[in-house]
Amino acid sequence: RSLSKEFLKIINEIIDYIIANDKFVVTSHINPDGDNIGSSRAMCGFLKKLGKQVVYILDDPYPSDLEFLYDKVDIDKSKSSNIKSLAGYKVIAQDSGSYERICMDKDLLETSDGIICIDHHHTNGDYGFIKYIDTRASSTCELVYNIIKTYEDRFEDIIDYDIATCLYTGLVTDTGNFQYSNTEPSSYLMAADLVTRGADKNLVIEKIFQSKSLAYYKVLGQVLDNMEIIEGKISLATVSKKMLDENNINYDDIDAITPYTRDIDGVELGIFIKEKEIGEIKVSLRSKSYVDCTKLAQVFGGGGHVRASGLTIRDKSLDEARDMLRQEAVKFI
Ligand code: 5GP
Ligand code: MN
Repeated sequence: RSLSKEFLKIINEIIDYIIANDKFVVTSHINPDGDNIGSSRAMCGFLKKLGKQVVYILDDPYPSDLEFLYDKVDIDKSKSSNIKSLAGYKVIAQDSGSYERICMDKDLLETSDGIICIDHHHTNGDYGFIKYIDTRASSTCELVYNIIKTYEDRFEDIIDYDIATCLYTGLVTDTGNFQYSNTEPSSYLMAADLVTRGADKNLVIEKIFQSKSLAYYKVLGQVLDNMEIIEGKISLATVSKKMLDENNINYDDIDAITPYTRDIDGVELGIFIKEKEIGEIKVSLRSKSYVDCTKLAQVFGGGGHVRASGLTIRDKSLDEARDMLRQEAVKFI
C-alpha cells in the first residue's frame, strides 16, 4: 500500500511542525505493548537526532518482555508525578485510541501546547490539533516509519540499528509476527527495509516469543483448564487475581495468553477475562475472520480494532463478568 496524497500531506505537515518547534513530549497508551513502546522510542530517537528537547512520559510500567527496548534510544522514561508543567511542550501521543487512554496525568497534559495524534485504532475518539490516523495501518510503528521515511526522502538518513529495532518490534507484536489480517504488503516492505538497516530481528523474536517464565506457563495451564467453548465458535477463559498472586506473576506479563482463546479450530471469537484488581476486570477480545470485536467491546464501553479489542468491567466479580460476556457474545456469531 503506497501512501495516499491525503496521508502524505498530513505526514509533511507533521514533519514541518517538528522542524519548526523545539520541545516535545512523547507518550502513548496505558497498559503498554510492543507497538506502544516501539513507536514511542522510535519517535524519541527521531526527535533527538533532529536536536529537539524530548521528554518521554508513560506512567505505567513496561512489561518484562519489552524491557530489552529500554537501552534502545538513549532517553529516560519519566512519569507525570516527576513533572510540574508542560508549558511550551507539544505532545506527540501515539497508538492511543482515545484521549482517556493516554498514559499520563490529564491535568499535566492540559498544561501542554496541544497534542499531535498518531494512531491506527478504529474507535479513535477525536483529539489532537494534527491527526495522523490510519485505521488500515498494521501498527503505529508503521505510521512512525512513514513519517521518518518521508523525512529521510526530503533531508537525511535517520534510522539506525536502535530505531530500526524499536520499529520492528511494534510491527511484529501488532501483526502477531505477520499472521494477522492487518499485515499488508507495506508491512513486509517495511520489515525488509528495517532488517536491511540493522533491526535485530533475532533479539525481538527471542525477547517477545521465547522468554516466558515458568510461572507464566503455570498460569497459562490454569487458564486453559477453565476455558469453555460455546457453540464451537466462542471461547471464554479467565484469570483471577488469586491465580496471578499465587504464581507471583504481574498482570502486565500475561498478554501473550490472549491469542490462545482464539487459536482453536472452529473458534471465531476468543474472550480472555482478566481480574487485574478486585473490582477491575479487563477483557481482551480476538476474532479470526468475521466478528467485529469493536462492536462487542462497545457494548461495555470499550474499543480497539476489528480483530482485537478490549474493555473494562468495574465492580463485578469474575464470574459475573464471565456471565455478562457470555450473554452478549452469543449475539455476535
Ligand atoms: P488488549 O486486548 O491487547 O488489551 O487490547 C486490544 C485492543 O483493544 C488494543 O488496541 C487496545 O487499544 C484496545 N483496548 C483494550 N482495552 C481497552 C479498553 O478498556 N477500552 C478501549 N476503548 N479500548 C481498549
Ligand atoms: Mn498498536
